Amino acid sequence: MKFQIFLYSGSKLLSVREIERYLKERLKKNVEDRGEFLNHCPKGSAEEFAKTLARIRIIDVMKPFKYNEPLYGEIEYEKRVLKGAVAPGGILYDGFMLQQIFYELLPKEEKNLESVHIIFTDRLLATFDENDLRYHARVNILGCPSIISVSGVVEAPAKPREYYVERQFAGSEELLKLKYKGRFIDYDDERLTEVVKGCAMQAVFYQIFGEAFCESKKCRLYNAHWQEELINAQLKDNFCERHEKMLRL
Ligand SMILES: [Zn+2]
Repeated sequence: MKFQIFLYSGSKLLSVREIERYLKERLKKNVEDRGEFLNHCPKGSAEEFAKTLARIRIIDVMKPFKYNEPLYGEIEYEKRVLKGAVAPGGILYDGFMLQQIFYELLPKEEKNLESVHIIFTDRLLATFDENDLRYHARVNILGCPSIISVSGVVEAPAKPREYYVERQFAGSEELLKLKYKGRFIDYDDERLTEVVKGCAMQAVFYQIFGEAFCESKKCRLYNAHWQEELINAQLKDNFCERHEKMLRL
């Protein structure tokens, strides 16, 4: 099957070079690291773009998407993030709205099924769930382009159940994190890049085969809702038999 993969990274948390190498080796396709997406696909004036981003912040996780009327400080903050002066932290953005913004910036001739665009970001993304009527943090916003939230890997899948029980009584979350170390992925975790390789593979499968996820807990395409499931599915570079075969197409 003919397709090529373009990687864009604005994440300071992972090694894109390692992900590029992995995808090349596994898929035997052309993979190109294009650096920061917003440098590759010019976004127009920084002021306007900062405003665009501030407008898709989620203010209330219990309400469906509505454009935020950004305050001066919010726009200034976005400008600092765009310049790389501060890391984006603690703010949720609507994942589908961000995808739409990035889609508009892609060159027309590359908006096709043969071009897989994967953007890594440290911004925290969420989507509104119509079933329980609230926003949930996400790792992967699949489509054209696919966006992988690296901070989402840390924040979206749940930590062990006992962690939350103990947190209600624990004085310091830092101590609790030490106690459960290894059982979840943290921001400075050396396993982060390894996990994101699997997320990138989900994005490739979604576009090429129309299926991103697998039922098997041992397959890299497993859609983990718990950190421990995520770690189990991602750290051995395993695919189920069917998906292993599809990798060679
Ligand atoms: Zn599978």
